[in-house]
Amino acid sequence: MLRFRIRPFFFACVLLGSASLAGAQSANAALERALAAVRPANIEADLRFIASDELMGRDTPSSGQRIAARFIRARLQRLHFVPMGDGEAPSAVEGDTRGYFDHYRMRRSAVDTEASHAKIESGPAGSELAFGRDYYFYPTGAVALEREGEVVFAGEARADEVASLDLEGKWALVFDSDLPWREREANLAARGAIGCLVATPPDRPDEHTAGRAARMASWVSRGQLQVVGSEEEGAVFPDDFVARGVAKKLAGGRDLSSLEPGAVLGTRFLERRAVEDGAEEYELENVAGFWPGSDPELAKEVLIVSAHYDHVGVRDGQIYNGADDNGSGTCGLLAIAEALAAHGPMKRSILLLWVSGEEKGLKGSEAWTLAPTLPEGYRAVSDLNIDMIGRNAPDYLLVTPTRDHPAYNRLTRMIEEVAPLEGFPELGSCDEYWERSDHRNFSVNLGIPVAFLFSDVHEDYHQPTDTVDKIDFDKIARVSRVVVRMLDRLARE
Ligand SMILES: [Zn+2]
Repeated sequence: MLRFRIRPFFFACVLLGSASLAGAQSANAALERALAAVRPANIEADLRFIASDELMGRDTPSSGQRIAARFIRARLQRLHFVPMGDGEAPSAVEGDTRGYFDHYRMRRSAVDTEASHAKIESGPAGSELAFGRDYYFYPTGAVALEREGEVVFAGEARADEVASLDLEGKWALVFDSDLPWREREANLAARGAIGCLVATPPDRPDEHTAGRAARMASWVSRGQLQVVGSEEEGAVFPDDFVARGVAKKLAGGRDLSSLEPGAVLGTRFLERRAVEDGAEEYELENVAGFWPGSDPELAKEVLIVSAHYDHVGVRDGQIYNGADDNGSGTCGLLAIAEALAAHGPMKRSILLLWVSGEEKGLKGSEAWTLAPTLPEGYRAVSDLNIDMIGRNAPDYLLVTPTRDHPAYNRLTRMIEEVAPLEGFPELGSCDEYWERSDHRNFSVNLGIPVAFLFSDVHEDYHQPTDTVDKIDFDKIARVSRVVVRMLDRLARE
């Protein structure tokens, strides 16, 4: 009895075993095809177009940026990617009428530097402050506002320093520190502060000098692009950087080095920001190509790979080609598209997303993550972002979030496993760049695990000398293959 029962079972095992072996072999064959489709020579050909002078540095918005978008679109169309921009029929993949472009609108608002000013009141006396001399703010602060309140010292605005402070309706005077500005703002806003006055600590040379204020004011007066309809639009936590002399006045004559967090300074600060009328509006494009998954259920989970295709344009007559930043990631993502076309469908769906507006403050990814263009019932489950992957030593590659970062997740662990297969034996950390590329918006706005691959800055970073002749095309290919290997693993899980 036992013998007869065990035989069919054994037989079945052999069959299952060989079936899954065959499955694994064909999956491996598909992966090998995909990896082989990532060719340095093709990446070079694409990058010589994307980083050519004729595209004039792909500023957002510009003709060069729009031409780059159309180049990417043509490739997606040729490789039979499903268009996944916005459109009329957002519910079905098959017969979908949407195009490859995800449109969003941006508005350029410029600060009226003449009409913007501030004042310190101290007892019956007051002193007028000039924007661009005594204080300045970043272009993100280009909104009309008027705020007035008492000034309270809040240390460096660390969470533990402000936890017990009452800042409701008050300005916080703080010292610069390594605390990221978003955290500083969040800590102060949580205590009810109406704004923040940032000074250099008294033991360091003043960083917020009149010269710096003048340079910043001229930048601010050129205007800031904001995504129309975004939460940030019109909602600004004022962050004013003040010269040391101003900080002393704000402290009401007290010694800056002996202030304790919570000290009420006996002064009031009033700020008025004005913006110029007639803000210009632009329509912009992200480019989205969808690679539908083969598993009916798992296909609804979408793995995103993103890269920004814009750069900073032309300044003082010089073209900033942005071959590495981020022509490298743009063309790496095109190579990944070729790889997927060679591979065929994976179990999960994949969205390749080229975003614009990155150099203007991660605007394209902000717009997409606030209104994702995916079929009904589909959801983004991860983002792998590539930005600047074509320079420095061939085996040098950085990743964030690492173990030391609060957003650390299994993607980094998986990258550490596959990167050595492509000539990156050890990965460094770029946690300090967490806020500096588009993965940030996928993490913050969508709450999904993200990972960022980056081969670091260099002497040509944001210079007209970031040109194609300095690019390591083989390195771009190997980083792109790391991404392909990641997709293969993630899609199979
Ligand atoms: Zn850049």
